[in-house]
Amino acid sequence: MSILGIHHITAMSGDPQRNVDFYAGLLGLRLVKVTVNQDDPGTYHLYYGDGAGTPGSILTFFPWPQAFRGRNGIFAVGATAFTVRPGSLDFWEERLIKAEVPTMRSVRFGENVLHLTDPDGLNIELIESTPDPRFVPHVSDVPAEYALLGFHSATEWLKNLPQPEAFLTERWGYRRVGEEDGRVRLAVQEGLPHQLIDLTTPNLEATKTGPGAVHHIAFRVADAEQELMARNEALAFGLQPTEPIDRFYFKSVYFRSPGSVLYEIATDGPGWTVDEAPDALAHKLVLPPWLEQHRPQIELRLPKIRTPHGVTLP
Ligand code: ZN
Repeated sequence: MSILGIHHITAMSGDPQRNVDFYAGLLGLRLVKVTVNQDDPGTYHLYYGDGAGTPGSILTFFPWPQAFRGRNGIFAVGATAFTVRPGSLDFWEERLIKAEVPTMRSVRFGENVLHLTDPDGLNIELIESTPDPRFVPHVSDVPAEYALLGFHSATEWLKNLPQPEAFLTERWGYRRVGEEDGRVRLAVQEGLPHQLIDLTTPNLEATKTGPGAVHHIAFRVADAEQELMARNEALAFGLQPTEPIDRFYFKSVYFRSPGSVLYEIATDGPGWTVDEAPDALAHKLVLPPWLEQHRPQIELRLPKIRTPHGVTLP
């Protein structure tokens, strides 16, 4: 059984246009898919990633423009970190200050970290690290040398460490590679960026679902067979995974981790190009085949957004 790293992280946002402008505009990520939340088709599901939409770089959002802001707390991913090349943070600091986004710097395990929050309060970090060559820069007004190159790590905010750590290390192949200021770092496979998970126990209340909070974290597996094996490991640990669900772009299994964080297992394939050409991703609203018959009603309910390609959707 092989967990390969983080597949995607899904959060909630408020206004979808503001979300597109922040992630595809300011942060220079590629908008790789505009679809709907399959469990709530009146809501968008927006996917951002590196230049190729590589699993391990995918941050997705359910925009809930009418919802009250969520609260970041324990039992969730509290911070999502992207990799940037060493020497990039001066560029990012200046770019974010110009956009009136406050930032803060720190050093973690010897690497420089720039902390920021998105317009809804979601915690994002940019970490200077050696990028994994799997990730390719997206062409935007951010120079390629400073582009976000996939996830670096995600930090889980937990009540206690032992059980969550035991599951990841005893069942999913992670190993402890560092400990600093109450933060435990786990790595899987080669321990490259996106193969790192940090566990911490901040003194906070429980996360409240809503804009600005992470909804779930998905872990990569190569295929459906690996997914079943990873699911079996969760069962053997006494957890309660769902049956595999076809999400059209990947197959998913969901469960609460021993730390009460919503986990997903997601297959690398079939990927974003099942319904759009690689060079035309997110040029239209795409729906999975079983929702296509409801397109007129769905489009009526979705607010208009302008994509980075200058197209107005839906
Ligand atoms: Zn997901």
